[in-house]
Amino acid sequence: MNHTEHLKCISLDGGLLCLDFINTVSGYTEDVPVNYITGEGEWLTWLKRVELVGEDFCGFQKDSFHSNRILSVRETLYKLFTSYVRGEVVQEKILSSFNREVGWMNKHLQFISEGKEITEKLVFNSQSADDYLLPIIRSAKELLISRDLKSVKECPNCGWLFLDKTKSNTRRWCNMKACGNKVKTQKYYRRVSGKLQ
Ligand SMILES: [Zn+2]
Repeated sequence: MNHTEHLKCISLDGGLLCLDFINTVSGYTEDVPVNYITGEGEWLTWLKRVELVGEDFCGFQKDSFHSNRILSVRETLYKLFTSYVRGEVVQEKILSSFNREVGWMNKHLQFISEGKEITEKLVFNSQSADDYLLPIIRSAKELLISRDLKSVKECPNCGWLFLDKTKSNTRRWCNMKACGNKVKTQKYYRRVSGKLQ
């Protein structure tokens, strides 16, 4: 399966836009994780998968996609949230990079009136590929200041991040099928083969 095919049906186990964005690699515990967002086409496919753009979207304006931008924001978010989950101090350079991104995002927030209501809206150029980082950064900022932050976990098998929404706070794997069962099967075979020796 090529990256585009993979992104079309990638699991959205993160449970939040910013975490699903972080999870656009095959697995962080692999020696060399496969990055799925390798080009503009892959970016568009993922944006459709998370419904940030509709299926009928005709395409980005020329030269508006910069993969280094996308990957650097993803790395910042990954390091920021994994530091928190692991109880580590967040590196100063990661925090300042995140602050820069939040500053950029804040410039795009506007209050608009919808009937009698006044709501905050993210206003950006929907033809610009890089600008779709804005809702992701907003999602990360909201997570950082929300109670949900305590429920962010790191899958012990693949390293993907996810929000544990269970009441008992006992979810262990990003996905039971993809990771939980795999680990259980491996443990079972190790036990059985151990007995046979
Ligand atoms: Zn996993």
